Amino acid sequence: EGFYFGAGPAALPTEVVKQAAKEFVEYENQGVGLGEISHRSKQATQIIDDAKSKVIEILKVPETHEVLFIPGGGTGGFAAVIYNLMAAFAAKTGKKGKADYLVTGTWSAKGAAEAKRLGVETNIVFDGKKDGKYRHISDQSEWKFSDPAETAFVYFCDNETVDGIEFPQLPQVPEGTNLVMDMSSNMFSRAVDVSKLAVLFGGAQKNVGIAGVSLYVVRKDLLKQASPAELTQLGVLIGPSVFDFTLIAKNNSAYNTVSIFAVQVINLVLGDLLAKGGLDAQEKESNAKAEKIYALLDARPELYLTTVAKAARSRMNIVFKFKDADTEERFLKGAAELHLTGLKGHRSVGGIRVSNYNAITPEAIDRLAEYMSKFN
Ligand code: PLP
Repeated sequence: EGFYFGAGPAALPTEVVKQAAKEFVEYENQGVGLGEISHRSKQATQIIDDAKSKVIEILKVPETHEVLFIPGGGTGGFAAVIYNLMAAFAAKTGKKGKADYLVTGTWSAKGAAEAKRLGVETNIVFDGKKDGKYRHISDQSEWKFSDPAETAFVYFCDNETVDGIEFPQLPQVPEGTNLVMDMSSNMFSRAVDVSKLAVLFGGAQKNVGIAGVSLYVVRKDLLKQASPAELTQLGVLIGPSVFDFTLIAKNNSAYNTVSIFAVQVINLVLGDLLAKGGLDAQEKESNAKAEKIYALLDARPELYLTTVAKAARSRMNIVFKFKDADTEERFLKGAAELHLTGLKGHRSVGGIRVSNYNAITPEAIDRLAEYMSKFN
């Protein structure tokens, strides 16, 4: 029996995978599986409603916010938030808004690149890249926000999956701006104050499910958006219907064919999380697992080379390197012999990446820690 530490799609709780597999074959003795039923059927609506209410319960989503399931992955979210928040800003102010991005790593850089690509006037509040690498989150005093009256939203990625950088807490942004958070790789690993967010989004396939659906938590006032005619007049982009938060909210996430199987996997994962003690218990466990690995890295800095500033270390994706390629190869080979896999770093940064998502059990981390403490 082995353990898989890959960054995404990532391991899921074993019991969830078994249950989902059963339901894929046959759901509730109806003679059909979850890939075969209508997304508007009674069972599908129940699955969407159940998954929604678990998200609301676990994240303490206030009445002011709506939960949506939308295809398109995390990358779809980069574009979806732009279309919707620009259209909401246009409705509220009659103006074409700008967008502010906090760039702390590969994924927020991609989010900002998407805004530029779509012709949005984009301001980089700060860019954490130095000598080609992301290693830290710069001091708040260095951040340069645009005028809030002109800004449709401020965007950040809470956990940078490739670079191993995570915000220690929500960033401080100017009063009244719409804060957008990509939580693709750390959602449900810690509490978050949803009331401070305009949008929280993320692909499901790391901490909460499989590829094929993304989760959005959207403040309801943002569902009031300028019409296509008004947007055209202002020179603001008109988004595709499949990303239209208003339309999707009106249709309870089934405006077009959403993967009910993927939503059910979210439902099962969150059911499992609740049964294991909820978000508080998960947060404690996530922190303890991460601390165990970081302690090993810090104990032998001559062997395990870490580059991310301590204050910005990710609890979800722990990255480190060796002094040469031979040692790295030996490390990966020795790990594979113990059936510890998925440890190779992202191709753009190399080295090792230990993904410590919710489904990685304390036992898995103990096994890896034992190997790491002996490796030399
Ligand atoms: N955002 C973050 C933080 C990610 O880690 C990823 C993927 O790894 C994405 C966005 C992109 O997700 P997707 O591949 O679902 O488009």
